[in-house]
Amino acid sequence: MRSTMQHGQLTIGSLMRHGTTVHGDSVVVTATSDGTRSQTYTELGRRAAQLANVLRSLGVEGDQRVGTFQWNNAEHLEAYLAVPSMGAVLHTLNIRLFPEQLVYIANHAEDQVIIVDDSLVGLLAPHLPEMKTVHHVLVAGPEAAGADLDSLRASGKVVLLYEDVLAEQSEDFDWPEVDENDAAAMCYTSGTTGNPKGVVYSHRSAWLHSQAVSTGNAAGLSFHDRVLPIVPMFHANAWGLAYAALMSGASLCMPDRWLQAEPLCRFMNDSRPTVSGAVPTVWNDVLGYLDKDPSKKPESLRLILCGGSAVPVSLQRALRDRHGIEIRQAWGMTETSPVASAGLPPAGVEGEDVWSYRGSQGRVLCGVEGRIVGDDGDAKDWDGATVGELQVRGPWVTGSYYNSDDPEVDQKFDGDWLRTGDVGSIDELGYVRLSDRAKDVIKSGGEWISSVDLENALMAHDDVVEAAVIGIPDEKWDERPLASVVVREGASVTPAQLREFLSKDFAKWQLPDSWAFIDQVPRTSVGKFDKKVIRKWYAEEEIEVEQA
Ligand code: ADP
Repeated sequence: MRSTMQHGQLTIGSLMRHGTTVHGDSVVVTATSDGTRSQTYTELGRRAAQLANVLRSLGVEGDQRVGTFQWNNAEHLEAYLAVPSMGAVLHTLNIRLFPEQLVYIANHAEDQVIIVDDSLVGLLAPHLPEMKTVHHVLVAGPEAAGADLDSLRASGKVVLLYEDVLAEQSEDFDWPEVDENDAAAMCYTSGTTGNPKGVVYSHRSAWLHSQAVSTGNAAGLSFHDRVLPIVPMFHANAWGLAYAALMSGASLCMPDRWLQAEPLCRFMNDSRPTVSGAVPTVWNDVLGYLDKDPSKKPESLRLILCGGSAVPVSLQRALRDRHGIEIRQAWGMTETSPVASAGLPPAGVEGEDVWSYRGSQGRVLCGVEGRIVGDDGDAKDWDGATVGELQVRGPWVTGSYYNSDDPEVDQKFDGDWLRTGDVGSIDELGYVRLSDRAKDVIKSGGEWISSVDLENALMAHDDVVEAAVIGIPDEKWDERPLASVVVREGASVTPAQLREFLSKDFAKWQLPDSWAFIDQVPRTSVGKFDKKVIRKWYAEEEIEVEQA
């Protein structure tokens, strides 16, 4: 028997319509150099229509791609809504990619138009001539008229001021009927081997993912919330927070380019977010800042969604105990839209016991299935002990890559299961615990040592701000751990003391015997610890290594 239910299309257009009408009184607040600027969701809807009219007038048709080269701000949100809703495909360009990769992805996606922030003109201009398919550039932001437009025009592309062209357009747009399975947006994942690979989200996947992010098991959003995505809108769609906010009617607070702890805390105090999302390095900086000046605490914040790399329990405890801010760990990848699991502890678990769950990558959200697969290719029991590769599948997990010529693409899938490249276990209650990325695993004398466990333990030491552990070649054991450590300003600690500190939780053979004290752990384009750089430093003897 078929149901009697209607088949409404789950599209970004429907999400936009809901957010900008039913929740027309919600606002998007954007940080500026000296304060904030703000518009209602009703205005957002009108401006999205104007932007769609502009893009049509520039010749954007069908599923052509529109690139954005923008921080998190109101104009980027306008593109998030207008581009997919008009049937085109939003391509968020990662402003921190290496130039060759940036040019590669713009050409590979065949971007027709790029919307660039005034503050990013200088970063885009040198590479624009090589972006073959781009014919128009729109310069957005309050300072657009003062930007170096000639540097963009030197590419031969037509350069227009976003506000000027929007002002000429109608506030109505004849939004087309869009199939929910059509492409809505795309994002490239940084390839460790070969070129970046494109993940293409459908309207349906974005819609379902937004609902999952909005549930109480993840961010728990309502229109009483104000959401601050610090995670960039070019990094896996800001973890879906922008669309989830529109869906639940929550207001949005956009930090633009002010991402350091001091301006961030100022912006949080001005714009009063209740929920925020960013990688652990951001919250570690915020913690250091608040420790020095607790009066700058953002009182409104009730929950931080944190992921992108393992979230140390020590960071979670410190923010909660010293500043009353709760962190919930989430796990995901560009390939999984990205949020696939979140770490709310089980009901009834209290006191010290919660940390085993808060330290985990959490339970997979309904819509995602997860399994652990051993070296033998078999799915393993959910016993919390057996370790293997985490594999996932579901309606917001990618099943392929866009026009990829990477010969290794096939190895990324096991049937319809995505091989995540993350290594860990799942326990009886369905909590995922990752011990490493496959490429970071340290194998010493045939046994695995978890770099993530060592890093988390080191970062729990009072004098340690950051720690990253890599495997280095060893004649006898194949590999041994090297710990690179950033020590708190004014503190001094020796490798022997750190080894002693670790020895309460680790067997002797697991303890790092090589140590390097560094000023800061290098970051990737999305703010995660970049172990490739530390490996290079080590190989090229650019860091001083002590033995202990
Ligand atoms: P990149 O590969 O450039 O880092 P992604 O942002 O897609 O791009 O990274 C996804 C990866 O980030 C995951 O496969 C996993 O290794 C890591 N990751 C994400 N969230 C967590 C988490 N909570 N704990 C541990 N690792 C995480």
